[in-house]
Formats: sequence, structure tokens, C-alpha cells
Amino acid sequence: EPKLVIVSREISRRVEAEEAVRRSEERFRSLVQNASDLITVIDPATKLLYQSPSSAHVLGYEPLEMQGAQLVRFVHPDDLTVLLNFIREVLKTSSEALSIELRLLHKDGSWRAVEIVGNDQRAAAGIGGIVLNIRDVGERKALEEQLRQQAFSDVLTGLANRARFTDHLDHGLLRARRERTIVAVVFLDLDDFKAVNDSLGHAAGDALLIAVAGRLRESVRPGDTVARFGGDEFAVLLEDASGAGEVLRVAERIVEALRVPFEVEGRQWFVRASLGVSLSTSGQIDGDDLMRNADVAMYVAKGRGKGRFELYEESMHDALMERVDLLSDLQEAIADASEFVVHYQPVLRLETGEIVGMEALVRWQHPERGLLPPDQFISLAEESGAILPLGRWVLEQACHQVRTWQGQHASTPPLTVAVNVSVRQLQHAGFLQEVREALEGSGLDPGDLVLEITESVMMQDVETTIARLRELKSLGVRLAIDDFGTGYSSLSYLQQFPLDILKIDKSFVSTVGQGGDGSDLSGAIVQIAKTLGLETVAEGIEQLDQLAVLRSLGCDLGQGYYFARPLAPVQMDAYLAAAARGRRAA
Ligand code: C2E
Ligand code: MG
Ligand code: MG
Repeated sequence: EPKLVIVSREISRRVEAEEAVRRSEERFRSLVQNASDLITVIDPATKLLYQSPSSAHVLGYEPLEMQGAQLVRFVHPDDLTVLLNFIREVLKTSSEALSIELRLLHKDGSWRAVEIVGNDQRAAAGIGGIVLNIRDVGERKALEEQLRQQAFSDVLTGLANRARFTDHLDHGLLRARRERTIVAVVFLDLDDFKAVNDSLGHAAGDALLIAVAGRLRESVRPGDTVARFGGDEFAVLLEDASGAGEVLRVAERIVEALRVPFEVEGRQWFVRASLGVSLSTSGQIDGDDLMRNADVAMYVAKGRGKGRFELYEESMHDALMERVDLLSDLQEAIADASEFVVHYQPVLRLETGEIVGMEALVRWQHPERGLLPPDQFISLAEESGAILPLGRWVLEQACHQVRTWQGQHASTPPLTVAVNVSVRQLQHAGFLQEVREALEGSGLDPGDLVLEITESVMMQDVETTIARLRELKSLGVRLAIDDFGTGYSSLSYLQQFPLDILKIDKSFVSTVGQGGDGSDLSGAIVQIAKTLGLETVAEGIEQLDQLAVLRSLGCDLGQGYYFARPLAPVQMDAYLAAAARGRRAA
């Protein structure tokens, strides 16, 4: 065999082989060079032997910057064992490609989630190491997207935030002008949310806000924007509305949706909200105007008794200004106390019709506006703190007055007087001392004084309330829970309060005797009270049939227009004299 041929054949075979290797290397290099994935070769001690150019893209380093360093230096401390186990696996199972996910440190200091596929190529000529294919799994993109979302949404509830809301509002207004439709803004503020938050804690408060968000979303169409502005403030943007009627129906639907009790931490909570509604119908109105108007309307809704909605009207601005005027009048009036009067409403034993005592109810004899009921100034007085001197004055006045009547119209047992205590008074450190002074100053027996605290106030801060009530009890006075049935009480709380009397709210009494379920509810309340050893007082008895039903339910006492309205002291004096004559005649 001619050697030449063999040599040339060998040469050509070698050339072919070299050519094949070169081509495959080229293919490999071009794949590696152009891949967006970072391809590295490491030794078993994780020393970086080679990095493809995309190291700049994936980790921010030029390939040579990483050269010779150990990969473990770039691995998140919590992922270190993951990587080391992975390498051990790769070294054991040479042929297969294995993969893991872990975090690598980018040059900019952030952690990047990557997926790594590994393959043992130590035996391969020209590689001589473990090949790792490192892919950024887009965590950064997802994170960015999340951050962008967060900038326009409320983190807690996932609703839109104020920024997105105003953005939608501006666009909605433009479109509405073009298409001659209406845009409506509904502002919504939860009433007494603080009570839930304070008594159950922030986690429960958050859970409630999330639940409220869900109810709101269900109450509107998918295209409408529901937002949370922070705290317990929400807003709804209604677009393409045909008219006010349609918008108000949505507001009504929201109020209804919130009326269903919420289940938080295994308990039922009643949440009411005040809604303010404004419409884009009035000419050249911009987004800011709409928001401000809705806010004003909401404020008015709160002032008119909460758990309701109001549609913005021009006059509401004036009403707000009037409230400001009233507040300055109030502050002056309280300074000299000459414009306030206390009226007294008789409280009777239902079975016998005998008067057992009375409730003191303050009124303001305003020089221009006439005799104002407490609804028109108590909340102002509470907001401004003026309730402290006013409440103290009412307490002293009532104790003196009733002690005097006890002397003039003797009865057994002696007449009692109930005085309403506001939340600010209860929280006030000097209140205990004020009660003591009012009793000592008047000579009234502590047992003849009843302090009334509304149910919602009691529930605001249960622990503190219990402590305060215990102190008051130690003076010998009696304690009543007022407006029962409108707050958040549960039986377990009621048991903890050192109470003597439960006053059934007039909203229950008013439905008694009309064939509704008012009787059942009132009956249930009387039973609860009896279980707890409390005396029951029905408020707002206006009709004979209400009296009859309440009496048959076993309710002890009652007050209401059916017997007598709250009376000025002279009228009360006459009423007591007549009652005494009646007793003597009997
Ligand atoms: P309240 O303590 O629940 O007082 C009962 C309210 O029901 C009184 O309203 C009374 O006039 C009214 N009322 C009594 N019988 C009837 C009836 O048959 N039908 C109807 N529709 N209403 C009846 P008023 O005097 O307007 O007082 C309203 C609220 O203002 C009181 O509710 C009480 O929470 C508060 N208030 C009154 N005086 C004071 C006070 O001196 N201090 C504080 N902090 N609050 C007071
Ligand atoms: Mg009362
Ligand atoms: Mg009441």
C-alpha cells in the first residue's frame, strides 16, 4: 500500500475532522456569544473559567471582570447550599442536564432570580469544566411591573389609589363631554371604623377594609373605578351614567351591600358608611370640583346621621360655613353657660305607669336660631372639645335639680336622674373627680344617679372603657348602656362591662307592634338583659300598642312621647306635682 495515499487519506481525514471540530466550535461560539443567557464554565470549586459576553446583560459584569472569581461569591447566602448540592449532583450524573433556581448578585447590588442548567463537560476537549447556562427568569420585569402597579393601586385592598382614580376621572370627564354622558364621583367613609380597629387590632381592621373593598367592587360594574384613598376612605367613579337616578341607585346598592354584617375573626361586625355623591352635570366642572363636592356631600351625610348617602347641592357649601359659625357661637356660649338649658324626660315603670326618674337632655337656647336640640351641636361640641365644660355643667345642673325635686316631691324609692356622658368625657382623666364633686355638691345619693354611655362609645376601646366604668361604679353610681342595638356589642363584651341598665334604642321600639320583627328583636334584647341581670328601659315609646307589647315582653321601664316629651324644669315641676297628687289619690 502506497504510504502517500495513506498519509494523504489520513491528512484528509484529519482535515475533515479538524474542519468538523472547527465548525462545531464556531457553531458553539456563535451560540454562546449571541445567547442572551449567560453561559459560564466553572471548576468543581466554582471558580469561573469562562463567561459568555451576556454576563454584562445578566449580571452587569464584563466577562473578564468575573474571570477567576468564585461563583459562590455571587450567590445569595440563603441559596449557597442549593448551589453546592446542585454541583455535586451535576458531577455525579454526568450526561444529564439538571436545573435549579437561585438568586445571583447583580453588579448594581440587586438580587436577580435565575434559572441555572448545568452539565458536566470536564472531559470535553476545549471545555474542561462544568457548563452552566444561567437565565434571568424575568423576576426583575415582574418586580418592576409590580412596582408600577403599586404606584397606582392600594397595596392593602388592590383597589385603585388616588393617583389612578384622578387619572380615570380626568379621562372620564373628557369622554363624557364628547359623548354627552354623566360622570359621578362617590366618596365613602366608614362610620365608627375606629371602633373595630381599636378593639380588634389592626390585622382585623385590615381584614375588614379588604372585605369592604370586595363589597364595593361587587356593587358596581366592572368598568367603574373603585379606589381607596387611605384609612377608611373609599371612592367610586361611575362613568357613562344616564342620569342622577341611575347614580343614586348605585349609591343605594352600596349602602345595602354594606348593611350585611361582616365576618371578621369569627365575629360579626356591623359597618355603616356615609356616602357623598357628586355629578358632572353642572356645566364646566373639573375633576377637582367633583372630588370636593363629593367630599362636602359626604360630610353632610355624616352630620345627618351616618349610614346614608347625600347628593351634593350648592347649598351644602353654605351649610358647612354655617357649621363653622355655629362652632364659634358654641364656644362663646360655653364660656358663660347662660344659653344652655336642661330638659327632663320622665322615665316610668311600664307595669304601674309610675314615674321612677328622668333623663336630663341638654338644649341650647340660641339667640338667633331658637331652641336647638342636641343633635345640632353635641357633635360639634365633641369635635371641638367644648363637650367637657358643657357636660360638666349638665351633670352639676341635673344633680342639683333632681336633689331639689326629691325634697319637694318625695317618693319611695327616690327619683333618679340619668345623665348622658360623651366619649370625650369618659376618656377625660378628671371625669371621675367631676362626678364625685357633682354628687357631693348637690347631696344627691350616688345610687340615684345613672350615667348613660352609648353602645358605640363603649365598644371603641373596650379595655379602657371597662377600667373607667369600674372606677365610676366604685362611687356607687349606676351605669346604663344607651342606644342599645345600634352598636357593635357582642354578648361576651356586654358581660365584661359593669352595667346596671340597658336602654333599648328607639329604632327597635318604633317597629314594635306593627307586625314587623321589631317585637321579636325587642323581646330578644329584653331576654339578653335579663340574663345579664340588667334592668331594661325602652326609649321612644310613642304609641299605646308599643307600650302594651313592651310590657308583655317584660321590659321594666320606658320613656317616650306617649308619656311625655322632654320637659323644661317648670313643666317638669308641674308634672311631678301632678304625679304626687295621683299617688295620694290612689
Ligand atoms: P338619647 O340619650 O338616646 O336621648 C333620647 C332621645 O330621644 C332624646 O332626644 C329624646 O328627646 C328623644 N325621645 C324621647 N322620647 C321620644 C319619642 O317618643 N320619640 C322620638 N322620636 N324621640 C324621643 P334629644 O333630646 O334630641 O337628644 C338626642 C341625643 O343627644 C341623646 O340621645 C343623647 O345621646 C344626646 N344628648 C342629650 N343631652 C346630652 C348631654 O347632656 N350630653 C351628651 N353627651 N349628650 C346628650
Ligand atoms: Mg340617653
Ligand atoms: Mg338613647
